[in-house]
Amino acid sequence: MQEYAREVLRIMTSQVMVSKRLFFLTASIGIAMGTAGETLDQTIEKADTALYLAKKERNSAVLYTQEMEKARTRDSIMEEDLRSALENRELELYYQPIYDVRQNCINQAEALLRWNHPELGQVSPMEFIPIAERTRLIIPITEWVLREACQKLAQWNALGINGMILSVNLSFMSFENRGDELTAFVKDSIQETGIDPASLKLEITESALMHDTDETVKVFHELKCIGVKLALDDFGTGYSSFEYMKELPLDIMKLDRSLISEIIMSEKEQMIVSTMITIIHALGLEAVVEGVETEAQYALLKKYGADYIQGFLFSKPLPAEDFVEYFHSMKGQVC
Ligand code: C2E
Ligand code: MG
Ligand code: MG
Repeated sequence: MQEYAREVLRIMTSQVMVSKRLFFLTASIGIAMGTAGETLDQTIEKADTALYLAKKERNSAVLYTQEMEKARTRDSIMEEDLRSALENRELELYYQPIYDVRQNCINQAEALLRWNHPELGQVSPMEFIPIAERTRLIIPITEWVLREACQKLAQWNALGINGMILSVNLSFMSFENRGDELTAFVKDSIQETGIDPASLKLEITESALMHDTDETVKVFHELKCIGVKLALDDFGTGYSSFEYMKELPLDIMKLDRSLISEIIMSEKEQMIVSTMITIIHALGLEAVVEGVETEAQYALLKKYGADYIQGFLFSKPLPAEDFVEYFHSMKGQVC
């Protein structure tokens, strides 16, 4: 059965060129086996549950199992409760330090969302961001994150932590027909908190560029005029074309951690990553490498000219107070 499904996926997956832009078509398939005594509607419902998971994985075929019901229930709880999460102050930003390789110090951080759910405990953004996007709750959530990040930067400045650059992740939805609102919101948040626009970095994932590139390019140029820094996140995981990179006024490319997971053993990975860093530099941009966990990985990436390193080797994402403590404990290495 899954053989069939894979063949269907292979046929459906294709590329189409529209107005000189390349689009990638994918499909998702949910499969369920009918059992004795079950109605057709019940079997279709099971297939729908499998399809729901296939869509999350993208471009895959998934066979229904009973365990999926539990996952689905968790998802519906989250979907229902996410609406009140902002109001109930259940969202929190963690901060992961980013290490400057050349200056030998921490001078950047990434703001990463956490949801402290009263029953489910701390929920990862990998789980709830897709739900927030599906329900469009990502719009008010992104605004909350942006305002919170700007306020945190202002607080840090007041504590004497100056020159720190803080990254915020943006969803593709903040760009889709809402570019003007996003630009206005970023401008207002900077003005209200009085921070230096260059201390705010906005990240968008490579896969988000597939949604509406023309609109994204336009909004990126408007954001650039405000003076914020712009980064392409998870580089190396999607179908980025160098054409987009030419058009987007980027400052930073963030190499995804999947590119370096085997870098110590794999000469191929070494070649790919060192070449990517060379290209990034040739484009006049800086390279951040994500997911660095060992000294050996760090040594190689330093040799290849990575400008910044983000990973558990330096620190996991930390709650705000712990971040400040970490920052102070790094005295001498902080620039
Ligand atoms: P991201 O923006 O690529 O963030 C980096 C992720 O890698 C974080 O996961 C971080 O904890 C993890 N990471 C960093 N260093 C290491 C390492 O050395 N090893 C391993 N195994 N992991 C490492 P996290 O916090 O779970 O966030 C996952 C993703 O959720 C983020 O990926 C980002 O795409 C999304 N996200 C987080 N916060 C927000 C937000 O405020 N808005 C939006 N739209 N997306 C967000
Ligand atoms: Mg990011
Ligand atoms: Mg990333």
